[in-house]
Amino acid sequence: MIESYDITIIGGGPAGMFAAFYAGMHNAKTQVVESLAELGGQVNALYPEKTILDVAGLPAIRGRELIAGQRQQLEQFPLTIKTGQAVTNVSQNENGFTVTTAQETTQTRAVIVAVGNGAFTPRKLNVENAEQFTNHQLFYSARNLEKFRNQEVMVAGGGDAAIDQALMLAPVAKAVTLLHRRSQFRGLAHMVDLLEQSPVKVVTPFLISGLQETANGALDVTLKTVGGSGELAHQTVDKLVVSYGFTADHQALDAWDVDLAEDHRLIAVDSTMATSVAGIYAIGDGVMYRGKQPLIATGYGEAPVAVQAIMTNFFPDRRGPVHSTSLTPKQ
Ligand SMILES: Cc1cc2nc3c(=O)[nH]c(=O)nc-3n(C[C@H](O)[C@H](O)[C@H](O)COP(=O)(O)OP(=O)(O)OC[C@H]3O[C@@H](n4cnc5c(N)ncnc54)[C@H](O)[C@@H]3O)c2cc1C
Repeated sequence: MIESYDITIIGGGPAGMFAAFYAGMHNAKTQVVESLAELGGQVNALYPEKTILDVAGLPAIRGRELIAGQRQQLEQFPLTIKTGQAVTNVSQNENGFTVTTAQETTQTRAVIVAVGNGAFTPRKLNVENAEQFTNHQLFYSARNLEKFRNQEVMVAGGGDAAIDQALMLAPVAKAVTLLHRRSQFRGLAHMVDLLEQSPVKVVTPFLISGLQETANGALDVTLKTVGGSGELAHQTVDKLVVSYGFTADHQALDAWDVDLAEDHRLIAVDSTMATSVAGIYAIGDGVMYRGKQPLIATGYGEAPVAVQAIMTNFFPDRRGPVHSTSLTPKQ
């Protein structure tokens, strides 16, 4: 017999986690299915050490602390959390939907799709021998700051993520160089201001064209000017963090039997977060509507809307305003 749920939340990033919390408040039998080994989505996987400044009521909170707080919120309810399971198919049946992962098949009345940008992977450094240095001297995210303590570090990239990584590393590393192929940074003005006030040394307009290990295990990075004469330069660093953004893999969604209306890989939703398929709702970075902002705060706002719509439409006997004051906080 296959296990049956009221609500299945696909994706355990901040939006999916908060939807699970709200589903718990409504006493809905809920499962969260997350493909990564840990909950927390982009926040946990990409910038756990970053200080987040734009979550209401929390003037400054590190990524990992925000996710730990969300996890603690979930512990108040008997939710089923499944990590390390990518949803490979969602198909409709007379009682709702069948949800398939490599490990199992479950039944659900309603679905909340909270898959962000899909299964994302970092854009790799396009240098012949990059693979041999990966996870030794070359990283695609500075997840564990201790690895970089008192080290000479180079961060390559020009977006918010690259600036974030450089700013995060500055207080622990011996020195941080931020390398970008253009003279202007793509990052938010606020981030660029922070960069200018920081001890991070900015080197532009250069690209990485070669890597060589030095006798003492450091990395000799060959830099090439972009355009013009293609002049070469060298810098030796202990660690290199390449932050060229991510490529999103939406293939999982494409392979699902249910056909969700998408525009530029984003799921179209109405003001109740309902998709084109009755019973499937979508929230977080993976959705699209007029004025949508891909931010944590936006996903947090969308989560209760989707859960409330599901309760109203599918469990009218259990709907009604729910306030967190009815909960006994766990210490
Ligand atoms: C470097 C960086 C800095 C940022 N800084 C900020 C900031 O300061 N403030 C802010 O508000 N926002 C910030 N953001 C954006 C913020 O992280 C996102 O808006 C937020 O993570 C979106 O949450 P989400 O739950 O919608 O998606 P995600 O965090 O992407 O989570 C989606 C989850 O779904 C899982 N998933 C995908 N496909 C499947 C599948 N088929 N089966 C099972 N699971 C699946 C993924 O593994 C992932 O864990 C930043 C983003 C980056 C990259």
